[in-house]
Amino acid sequence: MPTAVCPECDEEVYVDADSEQGDVVSCDECGADLEVVGLDPIELDLYEGSNDLDDDLEEEERF
Ligand SMILES: [Zn+2]
Repeated sequence: MPTAVCPECDEEVYVDADSEQGDVVSCDECGADLEVVGLDPIELDLYEGSNDLDDDLEEEERF
């Protein structure tokens, strides 16, 4: 099962193998909700629901 690093506590988080970008997983270590923001490699970011404070950062998306 693939893993990624939790941005909140730096622990490895198991991510389902068929997860897609935008899926939300929970960190077993700190309980944070994490959104899958990249798949190769898997990257996680804190999921803040409808909070759109990050709008200014999305221009830097690389794909
Ligand atoms: Zn965590």
